[in-house]
Amino acid sequence: MPPRYEVVIGLEVHAQLLTESKLFCSCSTRFGQQPNSNVCPVCLGLPGSLPVLNGQAVRLALRAALALGCTIHETSIFARKNYFYPDLPKGYQISQYEEPLATDGWLDIESESGTKRIRIHRIHMEEDAGKNVHGMGGDSLVDLNRAGTPLVEIVSEPDLRSSSDAAAYMRALRDVLLFLRANDGNLEEGSLRCDANVSIRPFGQAELGTRCELKNLNSFKFVQKAIDSEVARQTAIVDAGGRIIQQTRSFDPDTGTTHTLRSKEEAHDYRYFPEPDLPPLILPESLVTEERNHLLPLPAALRQSYVDSYGLSTQAAATLTQHPEFIAYFEAVRSSFDQPTKVANYILTEVMRGASVHGLSASFNVTPSQVAEILELVDSGVISGKQAKEVHLAIENSARMPREVVQERNMKVVSDAGSLEPLCSDVLAKSSAQVQQYRSGKKGVLGYLVGQVMKSSAGSADPKLVNEILVRLLEQN
Ligand code: ADP
Ligand code: MG
Ligand code: ZN
Repeated sequence: MPPRYEVVIGLEVHAQLLTESKLFCSCSTRFGQQPNSNVCPVCLGLPGSLPVLNGQAVRLALRAALALGCTIHETSIFARKNYFYPDLPKGYQISQYEEPLATDGWLDIESESGTKRIRIHRIHMEEDAGKNVHGMGGDSLVDLNRAGTPLVEIVSEPDLRSSSDAAAYMRALRDVLLFLRANDGNLEEGSLRCDANVSIRPFGQAELGTRCELKNLNSFKFVQKAIDSEVARQTAIVDAGGRIIQQTRSFDPDTGTTHTLRSKEEAHDYRYFPEPDLPPLILPESLVTEERNHLLPLPAALRQSYVDSYGLSTQAAATLTQHPEFIAYFEAVRSSFDQPTKVANYILTEVMRGASVHGLSASFNVTPSQVAEILELVDSGVISGKQAKEVHLAIENSARMPREVVQERNMKVVSDAGSLEPLCSDVLAKSSAQVQQYRSGKKGVLGYLVGQVMKSSAGSADPKLVNEILVRLLEQN
C-alpha cells in the first residue's frame, strides 16, 4: 500500500566551530579533558566577568555561510536566551535571535529521486552548554568544559521529505563543514548534532501539519531511526482520528522510539533580549571579501569535476572527495604522475588500506612521492603490476624509495626475448587444446596463454613481449 501521508522535515543542525578557544573566553575547547578543567569566570558565568568574541569563530561561521550560498548580514546581534538548566551556569545562553549572521542559503543532497536542493533558512552563532553526567553514585554531576564552545546553528527550511533525505542532508552538511575545516566531523564526540522537526500531511495538502521536535540526534543512524519511529507514531494517531500535539520529544537509541520531553516552548518563553555585554557584530568588509575569495569548490562540485575532467568513475570520485586529506593526497600524486585514473585506482586499492582518519587529520603509511614513483616504474615498464605490490609492501612505513627496492631486489621486468622464449614454448607444449583452438581461428585464447606465461615467470615478464613471442611461435608451425 502506498503511503498516504507526506512526511515533512526541517533540521536544526548544531555544528561546533573548530577553534582553539571558546566563543567568549580563552579557555581551551579540547575534547576529553579532566571535567571542569577548561573553565574560567566567563564560561562559569561568575558575576562581573565579561565576554569577548572569538574572531576565529566568526571567520569559520562566515566561511560556512558563504559556502552554503547564504546572504551575509554585515550586522548581527547577540541575544540572551533565558532558561534554567544545571548545565547552563549563567541562566542564559548567548545566541543570535532576531538578527542572525546569515540567511537564505541552500545545500544539494542526493535523494532517492535524484539531486534535490534543500533551502537553508538561517545560520547563527551561539555558545554550547555544559554536560550533565548522571548516575555517579546516584548523583548527577555537571562538567562545564563544553560550556561556551562556539557553535553554528544551521536551520533548514522544511524541504526534506523522508528520513533518508534527512540523513543525506546531515551527511552532506558534514562533508561541507569538514571540507571547509570549520568542523572536525566527529559526531561521536558531539561535534555535530541535530534537532529534527517532523510532521505529516495528506498528499496534496499545501498547509503543513503540526510538528514535533526530536532533540539532540547525534548520529546519521539515529536521525533516520528517530524520524521513522516518529512518523509511525504520528501516522497511527492521525489514522485513529486523533490530532498531533506540538511537542519536544527525545529519542531513546535503546528502544528506537521517541518519548515526550515537554510541550513545545515558544520563543516568548525564553525572554530573548539583546546581550548588553556585547556590541553588535559588524563584519569587516575585508574579512568577507577574503573568505569569499578563498572559497574552494565544495565536495559535490569537486566530485563532478573529477568525473568530467579526469574521467574517474562516480564511485572513485566520491571516495576520493570524502576527506580533505584524500583530496590533497590525490592531487599530490597527480602533480608528479599525471594520469588521474591510474592514480585514483592506486590510491583506492593500495593506499586506503593503510590509511586512518581522525576528524580533520588523516595518516597514510606511504607518501604521495613514493606512490608516484611506483606508478612511474610500472608505467615505463621497469616493473610489472605484480612487482609493484611487492615494492609497496617493502616501503610501507619507511622513507625508502621504490627505485632502491627495485635495484636491491633486482626486480626488473624480464624483457629480453632470449629468456622469455623458453617459457613461452613450455606453456605452448602444455596447452595443446588451446593451441589447436588458436590455430582454428579462436584468437581469444591468446589471453589465457599470456596469463600462463606471466604466472610461470612469477609476474616478472613483460606482457607485451610475451604476447609477441607467443604469436610468433603460434604462427610459425
Ligand atoms: P523554532 O520554534 O524551533 O525556533 P522554527 O519555526 O524556526 O522554529 O523552525 C525550526 C525548524 O522546524 C526549521 O528547520 C523548520 O524548517 C522546521 N519546521 C517548521 N514547521 C515545520 C513543520 N510543520 N513540519 C516540519 N518541520 C517544520
Ligand atoms: Mg527549535
Ligand atoms: Zn572560560
